[in-house]
Amino acid sequence: MRIAVLTSGGDAPGMNACIRAVVRKGLCEGMEVVGVRRGFEGLISGDLVVMTSRSVGDILHRGGTILKSARSEEFKTEEGRARALRQIEMNGVDAVIGIGGDGTYRGLASLAAMGVPTIGIPATIDNDIGSTEYSIGFDTVCNTVIDAVNKIRDTASSHERVYVVEVMGRNSGHIAIASGLACGAESILTPEIECTMDEVCARVKDGARQGKTHSIILVAEGANSLARQLCPEVAPGQKVHLIGQEIGRRTGFDTRVIMLGHIQRGGSPSAADRILASRFGAKAVALLIAGEPVSAVLGLFEGVMRSAAFDEALMMKRSCKMEYYELANILSSL
Ligand code: ATP
Repeated sequence: MRIAVLTSGGDAPGMNACIRAVVRKGLCEGMEVVGVRRGFEGLISGDLVVMTSRSVGDILHRGGTILKSARSEEFKTEEGRARALRQIEMNGVDAVIGIGGDGTYRGLASLAAMGVPTIGIPATIDNDIGSTEYSIGFDTVCNTVIDAVNKIRDTASSHERVYVVEVMGRNSGHIAIASGLACGAESILTPEIECTMDEVCARVKDGARQGKTHSIILVAEGANSLARQLCPEVAPGQKVHLIGQEIGRRTGFDTRVIMLGHIQRGGSPSAADRILASRFGAKAVALLIAGEPVSAVLGLFEGVMRSAAFDEALMMKRSCKMEYYELANILSSL
């Protein structure tokens, strides 16, 4: 059996650990493994490279993806997918394993619909895939946010400031909520949860009355409601600045804004992400060997790996953990 592995969409720490697991588990099972460079773009152009055990040496601890990632508009067209199918057939590829987010799943689902056995592995720092509780990269990004907030707290406390910290999450608050709970943020703003400027400012002032020397407010990129209350036309990059200015104006505290930006994507994957990536990679190969179901996506629920059909997986919705949000609010309110 000749299998192809690709990474697609936004990169996530742990993708390399997953590529390594696919390649080495595949080789152990007597398969040939090829890597596709630049996601679906490479599938269309036939940018394939034979993977050996050595091609995946020394990558377990590295962020990013050695196969590169890309977003391919051409693959969304019928002609693009037909070209990709021709390359799959010409190169004798029997099955494809794709590592990425829900967009990547939609691309893989269309390959599966053309009769190519396909396995999807969840990898996105946003953790916004409905068919898994954890995706590769999420644990590492939370650790990166926590590490940054630890450092910000040192200066926030010395200067008795409020810091408004923007984290990734255009459509979901998973990163903001999990890291907010883990770093004791005084307020967490997410796209899913409505809150008012009065509430946020009251929490800052309450904290100060109780002797807190500083406050940390974590804002997911997509947390629009508060900024829109202040200015309906606000541009995405300006939202967090607007929120920071208003908090400073209303509370009287020196308020600074930090956007953590792309540092959140990089870095060595955490132990949890390396373990998850290794398990998913090996399981994907095992599913192909078993041959039933022919195409599927992998997910993790309460520590147990499960597979689901693409159609079913793409319909699944998983909201952010409200219990974490509420606990974070309780624990930071005193
Ligand atoms: P992230 O969550 O990190 O953004 P992602 O996998 O969701 O990762 P996308 O850019 O949404 O990233 O999707 C990756 C690629 O998947 C797209 O560039 C495109 O090539 C392919 N793709 C997305 N949607 C479709 C679709 N409906 N049909 C075919 N291919 C698709």
